[in-house]
Amino acid sequence: MKSIDSFQCKRCGTCCKWEGPVRVSEQEISAIAQFLNIPEDDFIRDHTVLAPDRKSLSLMEKEDGSCVYYDDEAKACILQSVKPQQCKDFPKAWSFPGWDKLCEGGKALHEE
Ligand code: SF4
Ligand code: SF4
Repeated sequence: MKSIDSFQCKRCGTCCKWEGPVRVSEQEISAIAQFLNIPEDDFIRDHTVLAPDRKSLSLMEKEDGSCVYYDDEAKACILQSVKPQQCKDFPKAWSFPGWDKLCEGGKALHEE
């Protein structure tokens, strides 16, 4: 497998469809609420939930666990310019066993 340093996102959207919290900091909440033109308190009430470990808020999910901000038609994140750090950090700063079998960029690391 090639080094993670050579990882390139293939924009397959798989990581936006995994179940699991997409954590947002206070600054990120402000930026996203402003971007969506929603008052911050309303955004927190209507568009975030408490993460399972209760250590932060996370973005609300669709019923199937995918992120509500993934646009299936455009195959892109609606929040691109203000997306959370957690999203930017995958997979170089965090990942999980087997991620490279699911992520198209990860699969490419196995190719010659
Ligand atoms: S905020 Fe954007 S990048 Fe992050 S999981 Fe949702 S759709 Fe994907
Ligand atoms: S799963 Fe991998 S290749 Fe697909 S969008 Fe996420 S980081 Fe990019």
